[in-house]
Formats: sequence, structure tokens, C-alpha cells
Amino acid sequence: MNGEKTKGAEESKAPVSFIEQIIIDDLKEGKNNGRIHTRFPPEPNGYLHIGHAKAICLDFGMAEKYGGKCNLRFDDTNPVKEEVEYIDSIKEDIRWLGFDWENREYYASDYFGKLFDFAIDLIKKGLAYVDDQSSELIAEQKGTPVQPGTESPFAGRSVQENLDLFHRMNKGEFEEGSRVLRARIDMSSPNMHMRDPIIYRIIKSPHHRTGNKWNVYPMYDFAHGQCDYFEEITHSLCTLEFEIHRPLYDWFIDQLMTSDYRPRQIEFNRLNLTYTVMSKRRLLELVRDGKVNGWDDPRMPTLCGLRRRGYTPESVRKFIDLIGYTKVEAINDVSLLEHAVRNDLNLKTPRVFGVLNPLRVIITNYPSGKVEEMEIINNPEDESMGSRMVPFSNEIYIERDDFMENPPRKFFRLAPGSEVRLKGAYIIRCESFKKNPESGIIEEVYCSYDPATKSGEHLSGKKVKGTLHWVSAQHAIDAEVRIYDRLFNHEDPSGQKDRDFREFLNPDSLKVLKNCKLEPSLGSAQPYDKFQFQRLGYFCADPDSTPSRPVFNRTVSLRDTWAKMVSRK
Ligand code: ATP
Ligand code: MG
Repeated sequence: MNGEKTKGAEESKAPVSFIEQIIIDDLKEGKNNGRIHTRFPPEPNGYLHIGHAKAICLDFGMAEKYGGKCNLRFDDTNPVKEEVEYIDSIKEDIRWLGFDWENREYYASDYFGKLFDFAIDLIKKGLAYVDDQSSELIAEQKGTPVQPGTESPFAGRSVQENLDLFHRMNKGEFEEGSRVLRARIDMSSPNMHMRDPIIYRIIKSPHHRTGNKWNVYPMYDFAHGQCDYFEEITHSLCTLEFEIHRPLYDWFIDQLMTSDYRPRQIEFNRLNLTYTVMSKRRLLELVRDGKVNGWDDPRMPTLCGLRRRGYTPESVRKFIDLIGYTKVEAINDVSLLEHAVRNDLNLKTPRVFGVLNPLRVIITNYPSGKVEEMEIINNPEDESMGSRMVPFSNEIYIERDDFMENPPRKFFRLAPGSEVRLKGAYIIRCESFKKNPESGIIEEVYCSYDPATKSGEHLSGKKVKGTLHWVSAQHAIDAEVRIYDRLFNHEDPSGQKDRDFREFLNPDSLKVLKNCKLEPSLGSAQPYDKFQFQRLGYFCADPDSTPSRPVFNRTVSLRDTWAKMVSRK
């Protein structure tokens, strides 16, 4: 009992984010009758990216931690850009991260009726009017942050006329862009968003859920806070760019409130990552222009891309935990994410042998036709992962760059006259090699083995410095391996003045190796199965795999090669 108490006390000492502190204080004060209710509100106009994961972990995570609920609410107020495909993918990605909205799947479009009625209410109170000017003209009249705006010539319309026009807008009597409904607030407010913001516009495209029922659609600002209110959300957590919208959010809530309850909007910093872009619009451009192979291309920062690349939900959540939530805009180093991925995969994945650039080695004194099954442990970090048998024979493949004809000093791999250990098998010695006289390419290497050096049997006290991975040639599985590098070769591709982010695409972000040789156990790998290819990195079976031809994606190298490159400079 005592022990438990101490543990609880220790846990509560862990630093919490400013948002978590607000939630703790609110609960302590008994605000909202001690309820916590959050929501995650994606617009279904693209696939979720790792930035969204930051919001998801907070919205769902806080609710989970403090015994509350989190709604999934699709912010589907713009029928032009939204598609059902995106809705399905968003749900899949949230589940993949490990969160559950139970039966609370809502749509802003569920509230179109209520929002329309609320707009009518505002008109009746003299707090909204129909403006016949173009949106360009309205924008011009808004003034600047230091200059007040100019009143619209239509601001003085009578309630009757406004009601009539707004109803007719919704009946489809007017063209798109010919009229809007504006809230009447304050044209000289220092906050530009309060200068009679547009709250409804005419859109005649059918909506994926409400069809042709509506010809007017609420603006985001006129939907979001009200939806929070209708769903009795207590803490509406969003990114910093909405801070300036908060007075408007609160103004609409003020008009709606009938009791003490009101949702509270709190803003935090967005996740930005180096060497990538994090906006659905830009990601969509990459997909549409064929710069990547779809939303789930393993180079994309989308959750489905990371999943296909071999990232685990645990590593994404760990990374989000590490970076935390603040009010300061920053770009996070993508190596921190890769570090979290490595740490997670290190514990979870079996070590296997895969040769990416094969070079044939013939062991001349090993009986041809003989096959030995070598027992190799799957993960030295975790004994419970057991071991497997890997066949060994007189012809094997090693990595081409594990052999050098004229090695520099301290090259502990294979070279004429040198000895290396084949991991889990024998020590071999290089006796000779065959080189193509025209191309200069090494075609075969001839070695002898020492039977007294079999791994695990300790018959010989011989020690060598290098250990190589290998695959028996007759048992090898042919595979394609895709090596990914960063999609952009600039840390901040979308932040460069007068330069299009696409100028910074890394031309070497994908290398396809078609002649790889893998140990036979990998023949049964299923898409998304993950492995450590020894000495090479972490790899994940791709959904493009077929039974006769597996395809693997490199998730991440074993070490941060970029950090090395930078420190060498
Ligand atoms: P994008 O800028 O990529 O188009 P968005 O903000 O338009 O994103 P929404 O679908 O509206 O995308 O976002 C849903 C929620 O996810 C919002 O609450 C938003 O604040 C949050 N979110 C979006 N991008 C990020 C990010 N990079 N970091 C943290 N939260 C984000
Ligand atoms: Mg948005």
C-alpha cells in the first residue's frame, strides 16, 4: 500500500505540459462538473500526417488519462475538397495509433441544421447581415491591423431583408460568390477576425453526406466552436494558428450559452519536422504530380506512409511524448523520430541475414552438396524470441563491399589472405578470387573454412576481428529492397523565400535494389512484418510483395548516418 502511494507521488512529479496542468487544475476546481471531454477534428481533405499524430495523442491521450472522452469529429464544412476515401483512411490511422472514439463519430455536417438556425437567430438579433459584395472587396474593406476597416454599404439592411436574402441564398437562387452572410461584430476591432467575419458562403457542389440539401455552407470559424458547444466539449485543443481566432470562437459561444458551461480553446505548437513538409496541400501536390508513389509512399510523413515504411505506432507516440507541447513554434529534428523508431525496433525485431549487393563466395574445402543447419538466436536483447535454423553450404553470398582486393589498413573484413567469421557459422580465409578482366568487377571469391571454428562449439581458440552476415546461395530468396532516404535535401523545404518546396526534392530519396539475397526464413514474411537485417538496418515487408518475390522497405539504418555526415563537415 505504502509502495503504491510512493509510486503515485513519483508519477505526479513528472513534468506535465501546460495543457495538462490546466486540465488538472480544472478538474481540481470541479469545472464542468469534473468532466473532461476533448475532440479530434480533422478536415477530410487529405491523409493524416505525423503532425496530426501530435494532436491525436493530446486529444485522446488527455481524455484517456483523466477518465474523460474524446470525440472524432470530421470537419466537413467544405464539400469541394472533401472525399470519403479520406474519412476511411483517417479512421484507420487513428486506430493504428492505438486510440478509440467508441461510438462518438461525428461530422460538422450533422449540425448544419442547428448552425443554420443559429445564423437565423443572429440575423434576428441584428448580429448578422447579407453582403452582396465580392469577397475581394470585403477583404479590401477589412483594413489593416493598424487601420480600422470600413463598414459595408449592406451592413444596414433590415432584419426582414436579411432573412429573405439568406433563405433565398440557401434555396439556390444566387450564384456562388455573389453574396455572403457576415456576423456583425466590430469593423474597428484590433483583431481582424472580429471585423464582420464571413460566416456563410454559397457553394453549389453536392456534399458527401448531405447531398444537395444545402446551398450555403458555414465557414470553419462559424462551425468549430459551435460544434464543440453542441458536443459539450470541455477542452478544445488546437494549434497556435487558431489563437487569433479565439476571440471569435468565444464571441459565438457567448451568443449560444444558456448555462455556465462553455468549451475552452487552448492552443499548442504544431509539429514541424526537418527534411519534410507538413501540410496536406503540399502533400497532395506531391501525390498529384507523381513526385511520390501515393499518400502511403514510405517517404511521406503521412501515418500510412510511416506505417508502410515500418514505423511502429509505439515509436511515433514515444517521439510525440519526447517533444512535448509548448507555445513555441519550432522545427523538430527528424533524427529524433528515427531514434525513437530504432529504439523500439531494436527490442521487437528478430535479427536476420539479408545481402543487398551480393558477391558469391565459394568455400572450396566444404563438401559440395552438404548442408548444415546453423542455430542462430533471434534477438540478443530478448531471449524469449528464441532462435532459428539457417542453412549453410559451400556457396554463399556476402555483401560486395565486405570484400576488397586492396584493402586499406584496419579493414577487418574479407581480403586476399585475411580471415573473418561468418556470423553463426565458421571462420573462413580468403585464398583467391576471380576478377572480370574487362570490367574489373570481382565475380567470385574462393575461401577455405576451418571446421574447428563452428560457432558455439568453441573447438578452436582462434579469434578474428571481422564478422560478416551471409546467405547460402542455393537456399537464398531473391528479393527487391527499397532504400529510402529523406524526401527533401533541405532542412526546411517549405520555408525558403521565393523558392518552391519542390525545388528541394532529393533525387536520391529512393534506390531500388533488385538483386538481393535473403535467408530462407524471410520467404514467409507478411506485409508489415519487421526485421533487423544484421549490420544493415531495420526492414519491413512491403504490401507489394508476392509469394515468389518479397519486397522489403528499409525503415531506418542502424545508425544515424546523417548526423555523422554533418559532424564530419
Ligand atoms: P494541414 O495544415 O496539414 O492541412 P490542417 O490543420 O488543415 O492541417 P486539419 O485536418 O484541420 O488539418 O487538422 C486537424 C487537427 O490536427 C487540428 O486540430 C490541427 O490543429 C491539428 N494539426 C494539424 N497539423 C498539425 C501539426 N503539424 N502539428 C500538430 N497538430 C496539427
Ligand atoms: Mg484545417
